[in-house]
Amino acid sequence: MTKRIGFTTSLPIEVLYAAGHYPIDLNNIFLSLDSSDLVHRAELYGFPRTLCSWIKGNFSAALSTDLDEVIGIVQGDCANAGSILELIRAEGLPVYPFSYPNQRDYQAMDREIQKLEHHYNISRTQTQEAKKYLDSIRLKLKELDTLTYRERLVNGKENHLWLVNSSDFIGDPAKYERDLDEFLKEAKAREPFPTRLRLGYLGVPPIFRDLYDVVSELGGELIFNEVQRQFAMLYLVPDVVEQYIVYTYPYSVLDRLADIRQQIELRKLQAIISYTQAFCHLQIDNLLLKKQIKLPFLNLEGDPPEKLDSRTLLRLESFFEVHA
Ligand code: SF4
Repeated sequence: MTKRIGFTTSLPIEVLYAAGHYPIDLNNIFLSLDSSDLVHRAELYGFPRTLCSWIKGNFSAALSTDLDEVIGIVQGDCANAGSILELIRAEGLPVYPFSYPNQRDYQAMDREIQKLEHHYNISRTQTQEAKKYLDSIRLKLKELDTLTYRERLVNGKENHLWLVNSSDFIGDPAKYERDLDEFLKEAKAREPFPTRLRLGYLGVPPIFRDLYDVVSELGGELIFNEVQRQFAMLYLVPDVVEQYIVYTYPYSVLDRLADIRQQIELRKLQAIISYTQAFCHLQIDNLLLKKQIKLPFLNLEGDPPEKLDSRTLLRLESFFEVHA
């Protein structure tokens, strides 16, 4: 039986596709439904105001999306994931806890993937076959990413949306690929976008609905989307275990920093916009990024899902007055 399986952040979806299931990234559901209402529903349930909106949104999305099971990433993502997984279980949905190893350890990652394969009753060969297919789509995403920073035929918002949606391939990789082919064809026929301030975006995807549009209006372009690019798994290493070892997001901020430094060079970035979510532990990692990255660095903090508030807008305008 095909199951609808929600998950709280990227995990080896190759296993779920190999088992014939329908993986659904709860973060994408959160943003595609009425996000404010989902946060409100979690608060009515009893979630405190002083908790990250993504977590509240994930919880409400899990309960309102007709799922058969939820996988919570309880190590390597969010400190709150284990707790919401237990609440989801208490609401009657079957749950599965998935853990990234503490460090980039091949054997430990291999064991976690084996456990997942055992849970869904498939072999490593089947997982690798699913990976081969998904990698053929990722190769096209890699081209899209290059068209963003080199040829400048794809803008930052388009890059963000395509990469972020590849965390689950919208539950239908064949459709995702058809739409991507169409988009690439259209993008390659465009004139390059004008030269602008070349910006990198660091951190989890923004909860602000209009950040990319506003940055573009102010004269910049976010031609590097750090975490979204990580979700897209563009390294294209042949082994599924290796793929989830080179992926930086679940590990130390120093692993993220090494990747960011490479991309700053490759993409000739001139400034950084770093996003943090209110009440998130990644704000601490952000302190280190700010200290280590020797480029103009603007940190923005978001809380509820909304358009940019006037204070954040003013900070962006001031940043562009100085650096654009
Ligand atoms: S933004 Fe931070 S606190 Fe919120 S879900 Fe993500 S990791 Fe957790």
